[in-house]
Amino acid sequence: MSKNDDRLLFLPLGGSGEIGMNLNLYAHKGKWLMVDCEMSFAGDHFPGVDLVFPDPTFIEREKDQLLGLVVTHGHEDHIGAIPHIWRRFECPIYATPFTAELITDKLAEAGLLDEVALHIVEHDGAFGLGPFTITYLALAHSTAEGHGLVIKTSQGTVFHTGDWKLDPNPLIGPICPSDKLKALGDEGVLAMVGDSTNVFNPENAGSELAVRDSLIKVCEGRTGRIVLTTFASNVARLDTAGEVARATGRHVVLLGRSMQRITKAAKATGYLKNFPDVLDEEDASHIPRDKILILCTGCQGENRAALARIARNEHKHLTLAADDTVIFSSKIIPGNELVLGQLFNVLASNKINVITEKDAFVHVSGHPGQADLKDMYDWVRPQIAIPVHGEARHLLAHAALARGCGINHALVPANGDIIEINQSGAHKVDDAPVGRMILDGDQVIPADSPSIGDRRRASQQGFVTASIVLEEDGTLAADPQLAVLGLPAREPGIFYDQLMDACELAIDRMKPKQRLNDGNVEEGVRVSLRRLCRAQLGKNPGVAVLISRLEEPVY
Ligand SMILES: [Zn+2]
Ligand SMILES: [Zn+2]
Repeated sequence: MSKNDDRLLFLPLGGSGEIGMNLNLYAHKGKWLMVDCEMSFAGDHFPGVDLVFPDPTFIEREKDQLLGLVVTHGHEDHIGAIPHIWRRFECPIYATPFTAELITDKLAEAGLLDEVALHIVEHDGAFGLGPFTITYLALAHSTAEGHGLVIKTSQGTVFHTGDWKLDPNPLIGPICPSDKLKALGDEGVLAMVGDSTNVFNPENAGSELAVRDSLIKVCEGRTGRIVLTTFASNVARLDTAGEVARATGRHVVLLGRSMQRITKAAKATGYLKNFPDVLDEEDASHIPRDKILILCTGCQGENRAALARIARNEHKHLTLAADDTVIFSSKIIPGNELVLGQLFNVLASNKINVITEKDAFVHVSGHPGQADLKDMYDWVRPQIAIPVHGEARHLLAHAALARGCGINHALVPANGDIIEINQSGAHKVDDAPVGRMILDGDQVIPADSPSIGDRRRASQQGFVTASIVLEEDGTLAADPQLAVLGLPAREPGIFYDQLMDACELAIDRMKPKQRLNDGNVEEGVRVSLRRLCRAQLGKNPGVAVLISRLEEPVY
């Protein structure tokens, strides 16, 4: 894109067609602006892998024209990829104080703190970046410092909402800024690029204050220990946990690394001012059970998180017993039902009360329901709606809702679509390469790397390794050696002999000349072993064949 190119382009590299992995780009007059840089959790499709990110190759190629990464808020699905892929595009980062504190932690852990120019933008701050003028507009969300971005260009204004909801009392951050949003609408907004996560909720998202009142009632009069689990990033909910403890005469214990990390960042940036003093885990074990409120991580049933560990009785100091209560002050994220169900069963079988959002009013979402979206469209009145931050079905429903609100142009983007936004609407003009990267061990690699295919196959189908030693003429110099992993042979000894026979037969059947070529031998043995495994066990394992020769073959 040249500097004389007056077009305003929008390009999502992640987050359009999926929830999480938000990486959005804007281009104008030859310069690029990145909004958010996220990660997502890997799930079963990537065995042994924790994190997935969008492939930044496109912007890596344009990095000389990339002016900065502007971060809307500090959720992992908006900042999580920074320490892992920042080196690919190396640009300055802009964020408000609490978000910047979380990013600083990540950069320090990755050893990047001295290299990244991290600019702290004040609340509702504005700054210019080349042809863009960016103003932060504070909106309620399920973490502190949720923001929309007002991005002004010579082509018009884009309102990039970030994650948001309207909350008459969010406890932290501003009350719903309807006046500011109406004023923005009065000035004229060309396009609104916005959050679609909760478009299927016909109502409002709901208020943090209402959850606080309800949680106090839910906790009053309980006799055992109370465990309250939520996303650590929900600073208002942490504040509420402190108030619940105070109202019910309990001491707070914090469990889980991210709980400690977020409370530290929140206090450092002026939040959680009234949070009660936290009791040490060991001291808590000596205090009557009805005087303790444990605030902990693990609300999605994560196996290694604090809640799962105390539920399995693996914590050094704190245990749960009959009549204790565990409150899941959180949404059950689709896909986590199974692992959470197992955790609920562990708790229930120990006669521990389990309360989720299905049993009592203990949670509200941080994303707009239909009522919030309608208010937002009424106030901002963009010419164009571009729904993002959702799966295809969310984006389509959001576009339909926007049209219902009188927005004439609503375009559903897909990752990699280069979209021109102008007075006549939003139109796809080109494609950018997209893909996914994964963090595997400490390596960031493409998600379709052969190593992942091999691992998936090994984890599902098992693995056989055969070591073949050949004479100079290509005949076997010794019995083949085999290692078998994860195959359901009823009589392993007999199966092993059959595998050996299969190797021998494969080599015997080859023409003498074929045996002199390692590739031929490898392929012949592999096919033969796989055929046997399919016939005997109905499995199609990965097969590795190692060939050694006593002498180099003479061709
Ligand atoms: Zn968020
Ligand atoms: Zn998000």
